[in-house]
Amino acid sequence: MKRRFLIAAIFLLISFGSVTAQTAGDVSVKSTGGHPVKLPLKLEGFMIEPNGQLINETAFTNKIEKALQLLKNKAPDEFKTMQFFIVKIRAWNVSGANYNEEVMTIDIAKATFDASLEWLASVLIHETHHIKKYKETGKKLGDAHLMTDKKAALQVMIEEELECNRVQLVVLEKIGGKKFEIDYLKAQKGDHFDIDKDGDYDWDDYNNRNW
Ligand SMILES: [Zn+2]
Repeated sequence: MKRRFLIAAIFLLISFGSVTAQTAGDVSVKSTGGHPVKLPLKLEGFMIEPNGQLINETAFTNKIEKALQLLKNKAPDEFKTMQFFIVKIRAWNVSGANYNEEVMTIDIAKATFDASLEWLASVLIHETHHIKKYKETGKKLGDAHLMTDKKAALQVMIEEELECNRVQLVVLEKIGGKKFEIDYLKAQKGDHFDIDKDGDYDWDDYNNRNW
């Protein structure tokens, strides 16, 4: 189990994303809707990197733009923090803060993308807070992957999750999140990455992720 945890942690922290690391190209690509999306694409200073194999490119660009405008108008302080720390937002197969690209990147998977606009916007702030913590402390998820005591490591990860959830909750309320979304977020115990609830974060959890 320990070995699995380490493999998963290493996988999480250094590999996914960078394997197929891609810089926004200078060519236009065809969206599935047939409308070409020009790359590189910038919105409010962020590089936007759609991926038509995962999410319709035009839909991705449009909804991300709406989420950014919503944050800019209703949660301007948190939005400024996001502008300070985040360089790129891209469509990916798993949502999360990605410290491992050349530039600080937020990955958005389809399940997150397909949630409400308010939820999507609040997730952008959640992931921003992970990256803010990394930039301020130099630690990736509290450097839990370097800890030999995996229960203690899990606790470090849970504490960071809860902290990011609190920032997300403030924003979700500011931008008009629905009651069920607010209640859902409040009910989280910070261990949403530990889906199989066996007290560690491993391949079983990673493979069972659907957000
Ligand atoms: Zn998180």
